[in-house]
Amino acid sequence: MPYLFVTRGVLDALSDSRVVSDTLDLTEVRLGEDVFTPLTPATFSLTLSNTGAGIVASGTACATFRTRCVRCLCEYDTDVDAEVDGFYVEVGDDVDLPEEQEREFITDERIDLEPAVVQSLVLSLPFAPLHSPDCAGICPSCGVDRNEVACACAPDAGGSPFAALKDLFGVEEDV
Ligand SMILES: [Zn+2]
Ligand SMILES: [Zn+2]
Repeated sequence: MPYLFVTRGVLDALSDSRVVSDTLDLTEVRLGEDVFTPLTPATFSLTLSNTGAGIVASGTACATFRTRCVRCLCEYDTDVDAEVDGFYVEVGDDVDLPEEQEREFITDERIDLEPAVVQSLVLSLPFAPLHSPDCAGICPSCGVDRNEVACACAPDAGGSPFAALKDLFGVEEDV
């Protein structure tokens, strides 16, 4: 849902600024195989400033997501903190901007803060999430969760990504 902020009367003049602190609702995020379900709204605090060229939004956002550990497949909750940057210009004022400059448009004297907040959080989500940095994972030989059960499989079974495949196809390494 858009989070609209009315700039008129607040950010009209050069170097006018205003701090906006609030929350906004998030929806589920999918990154490849990983699904992140928001457990909280995003909490954000942004300073909006009129720089002459446009309006800059900068600050922080945070939220808690539930996701699945890629090693042991357990569900766990993760707090995500993000730096937020947004840039807003009037339609027509964007022609001189460098192509790589990200921008949103000021529409009817309003700007939408939601895309910048959501994007910053999505970019801060963990790639290949782990419920703990030393998660022992699932044993590729017998399939137990090695965080809970110490199995009797060779300790280096997890060292080779092909260990599970060898089991599947019954291939022996040292014949
Ligand atoms: Zn895990
Ligand atoms: Zn095992």
